[in-house]
Amino acid sequence: MLRLYNTLTKQKEEFKPINPPYVHFYMCGPTVYDYFHIGNARSFLMADVIRKYLIYKGYKVKYVMNLTDVDDKIIKKSNEEKISSNEVAEKYIDSFMEDVRKLGMKKADVYPKATEHINEIISLIKKLEEKGIAYNVNGNVFYDVSKFKDYGKLSGKKIDELESGARIEINEEKKNPLDFSLWKKAKEGEPFWESPWGKGRPGWHIECSAMSSKHLGETFDIHAGGNDLIFPHHENEIAQSEGATGKPFVKYWLHFGFLNINDEKMSKSLGNFFTARDILKKYSPYAIRMFFAQAHYGGPLNFSEELLTSAEKGLEKINNLRDKINEELKTQNKDGVNPDFDFQKFEDRFVEVMDDDFNTPQGIAVLFDFVRDVNKVIAENQSLSSEFYKNVKDFLTRTAVEVFGILSFEEKKSAGDDKLEKELIELLIQLRSDAKKEKNYALSDRIRDELNKLGVVLQDSKEKTTYKISHR
Ligand SMILES: [Zn+2]
Repeated sequence: MLRLYNTLTKQKEEFKPINPPYVHFYMCGPTVYDYFHIGNARSFLMADVIRKYLIYKGYKVKYVMNLTDVDDKIIKKSNEEKISSNEVAEKYIDSFMEDVRKLGMKKADVYPKATEHINEIISLIKKLEEKGIAYNVNGNVFYDVSKFKDYGKLSGKKIDELESGARIEINEEKKNPLDFSLWKKAKEGEPFWESPWGKGRPGWHIECSAMSSKHLGETFDIHAGGNDLIFPHHENEIAQSEGATGKPFVKYWLHFGFLNINDEKMSKSLGNFFTARDILKKYSPYAIRMFFAQAHYGGPLNFSEELLTSAEKGLEKINNLRDKINEELKTQNKDGVNPDFDFQKFEDRFVEVMDDDFNTPQGIAVLFDFVRDVNKVIAENQSLSSEFYKNVKDFLTRTAVEVFGILSFEEKKSAGDDKLEKELIELLIQLRSDAKKEKNYALSDRIRDELNKLGVVLQDSKEKTTYKISHR
């Protein structure tokens, strides 16, 4: 029985989807004005693991992640880079998709874009206006929080606490400081759409209400996002959707914990700001996924390069077993021993810990216990049957590959690529040694450093230079 912590009720609850085996799952996606940072990567990756575990459990998951492609930050970037906001959005949607693929995330079933749902957004605002929950001041439309009695139920705060605690945008057009924009009147040089309130563009919160109900229904199972979205973003989504439909919006709210960098808050001014791209240049996606899965999704987590390096090291054990399995399964061995190994015990333990609010650190621990016990059996037997290795592979495939994404059984490259790679590295080593002979040390150092950045570490000895490929 799967139980999960629901931010809305502040307790662990049994997971009962509205229409099993279907699970409708909405995850707040990126605002596409830049590469996403490693804190966002944690949320996206843990949502990916949770989605994959639900699939492992036999649920048919429809997973929707929105792309906010019209926003103040995008407009700002478009002015800075002197390209249209459309071009900014397209550029960063492409880079987002590339990073998603590199990080081994399963693509969403739908990536709705705000700019492609303007009609849905307008009709939702109209509905709120008709009900007297939204008001128009000179082409700016606001949500009147005093008209929604449950406002604050997700963050667990009362309206007056929220007013004093939160940083709220000051705007004299608003009746109440907590009221928020549903429709923003177009300013000079900004993208706009025609609407009953004049030219303008949607606010951020209304996008998610409109797009989630279009793709998942007015009431759906899971809505997830980073902790920092609980207030005001998710609180406002609830107010908009429930205000308009009178029905419950979401059954289970999941939130991902905050990521610190070397025990400090990540910020551009502190110089400890990393994008997922930066990290992918130095570490394998498997190590990054392993690092995140080793912490519970809901708690805070500290990020450091040492921890990533140790995740990478930890993976060696499981990779070594993978190599052994691949080797053994190249030929059919019917004569080997088929040992009495309790696969079911590990499967049961895996489900037991993961059913407890997706306890991935424990799930990873089960995997490593499994690897240890399999290695013991291998050490104790001269020859093992192919059937045994197939069962080991099946278990690792269902868990390490398909849920955690920390392992792959596929050969990454063809033999031809490896040969070319080797020849190219050796060519560069030769060129570096020529540069050294000509006392062009700037060039020889540069070749060494650039190779290093690519994960190719050169080792000089008296006779010759060899190399080692790290972070694979
Ligand atoms: Zn959202």
